[in-house]
Amino acid sequence: MAGDEHNKPTTTTDGGAPVPSDEHSLTIGPDGPIVLHDHYLIEQMANFNRERIPERQPHAKGSGAFGRFEVTSDVSAYTQAALFQPGAKTDVLLRFSTVAGERGSPDTWRDPRGFSIKFYTSEGNYDLVGNNTPVFFIRDPMKFQHFIRSQKRRADTNLRDHDMQWDFWTQSPESAHQVAWLFGDRGIPRTWRHMNGYGSHTYLWVNAQGEKFWVKYHFKTDQGIQCLTQEEADHLAGADSDYHMRDLYQAIDQGNHPSWTLYVQVMPFKEAERYRINPFDLTKVWPHEEYPLIEVGRLTLDQNPTDNHTQIEQAAFEPNNLVPGIGVSPDKMLLARVFSYADAHRARLGVNYKQIPVNSPKAPVHSYSKDGAMRVQNVSDPVYAPNTKGGPEATGETNPAESWGGSGDAVRNAYTLRRDDDDFSQAHTLVREVMDDAQRERLVANVAGHLSKGVSEPVLQRAFEYWRHIDQEVGERIEREVSRA
Ligand code: NDP
Repeated sequence: MAGDEHNKPTTTTDGGAPVPSDEHSLTIGPDGPIVLHDHYLIEQMANFNRERIPERQPHAKGSGAFGRFEVTSDVSAYTQAALFQPGAKTDVLLRFSTVAGERGSPDTWRDPRGFSIKFYTSEGNYDLVGNNTPVFFIRDPMKFQHFIRSQKRRADTNLRDHDMQWDFWTQSPESAHQVAWLFGDRGIPRTWRHMNGYGSHTYLWVNAQGEKFWVKYHFKTDQGIQCLTQEEADHLAGADSDYHMRDLYQAIDQGNHPSWTLYVQVMPFKEAERYRINPFDLTKVWPHEEYPLIEVGRLTLDQNPTDNHTQIEQAAFEPNNLVPGIGVSPDKMLLARVFSYADAHRARLGVNYKQIPVNSPKAPVHSYSKDGAMRVQNVSDPVYAPNTKGGPEATGETNPAESWGGSGDAVRNAYTLRRDDDDFSQAHTLVREVMDDAQRERLVANVAGHLSKGVSEPVLQRAFEYWRHIDQEVGERIEREVSRA
C-alpha cells in the first residue's frame, strides 16, 4: 500500500511484522558488532543477493506494455479462433527486444527486434512470438544455437566479433535475405513504435467448417516507419543506451498510445503443395502481389508495466500457446521453437512459470499438472484421468489445426527445392527493387563499415562474393569501399 507523506505505512519484514529501523542494524552497543539474529538485516541482504534471475538467451534486452487487440474486419472465413472473430476485443502484452545484446546493452545496436505478443483470449493464451522482420537468417533449427553464438561473445576475449559473424553468414547462404534486410535502413528502427512486426513463420488457420489456410501475420505500424542512421544509432548507444525503452514508456505515459494494424496473407491449404517456392521456408516472404494483405484488426498499447521484473522480465512467450482455429506449419524452425521456448522458461523461471500472473491465462485452467517448485495455485482432486470423480475430460476430437500430415523415411535433409527456391533472389529484389539509390548507398556504407572492423582476409573475400551474389553492383561497391578504408 502506497502512503502519502503524512500517512506512511510502517515498514515490515516479508513476513508482515513491523520493523524498528530502516537505517540501523542491531549491534552490541552503538559501536559494537552486528548480531546474527538481526533477521531483518539478513532478509534485506539475502533478498538483494538474489534479485537477478538469469537473463534470456537471446532477446535479453527489452521492455513492453499492455493493451488490447480489436478486430476491425471479418476473417471468420479463414479462422474460428475467438480472438479474430468480428468485434472481438482481447487484452494483450507486447514485448520488444534486441536479439544479441545482454540486459544492459544499447537499444540502438543493429539487430533484428523481437516483437512478442501474448493475447489473453477467452480460449486460453495465444502467443505470437515474432520479430520486426518477415524472414530469418536460417531455416533449420540445428543451426540456431550456432547462429546465436556467432552473434554473441567469443570465448577468449569475451568480445563480440564481426569476423565470426561474417564467417557464419558467408557459410550460410540462406542468411542473405535477412542480412540484406538487417544492413538496410530497417536494421535500426528509430523507436519500437516506428517499426512493423511480423509473425515471420507460416501458421495454419482453420475455420468453423474445418477448412484450412496457411497464413502469415504482418503488424504494420500506424506511426509510420522511421529508422536511425548508423551515425545516429552509434551516438545514442552512448548518449542514451535505453533510448527505445524510454521512448515507449514516455509515449504511453503521455497518452500517446502506439498502435499497429494487423494484416494477414492467406494461402489456401492445397496451394502450398504447388507454390513455386517453399511457403514454409523462414528465409522467404510471400510476395504481396501474389498474396495481398487482408486487414484483421488493430493492436494498441495503452498501459505501462508498474513492475518491470514481474510483468516483463518474467513474461514467458511461447509459440506452443495456440488456441482452437490456429496451428503450426511444417516450418522446421517453428516446430523446434514449440519445444525450446517452454523449455527455456522452465530453466529460467521454474516449472510453474505459468502461475506467474503475467503468464496466467484469463480463461479457466483445468489441467492435470501438479505440484513442483513455487506452485501457488491449489490443485484439487481427482489428480488423474480417466476418473469417475468429476475431473476434467479431454474433448476426444482431433483438432484440425494440429493436422497437416507428412510422409517419407526419417532423413537429415534440406527442404526439397522447388522451381524458384534459391537463397539470393529475394535478397536481390529487396536491394535492387525495394531500396532506392539513397537506401542502397547507406546499405553499402553500413556493410563496408561493419566489414572494416576486424574481419579476417579469407572471410572478407567470402563476404564480397556473398554480396555479389545478392547484387553484382552492390557487391563490387562494398569491396571498393572496404579496400579504401
Ligand atoms: P512489395 O513491393 O509489395 O513490398 C515491399 C515490402 O518491402 C513492403 O512490405 C515494405 O514495407 C518493405 N520495405 C520497404 N523498404 C524496406 C527496407 N529498406 N527493408 C526491408 N523492407 C522494406 O514487394 P514484394 O512483396 O514483392 O516483396 C519484395 C521484397 O520486399 C521481398 O523480397 C522482401 O525482401 C521485401 N519485403 C517483403 C515483404 C512481404 O511480406 N512480401 C515484407 C517486408 C519486406 P512497408 O509496406 O511497411 O513500407
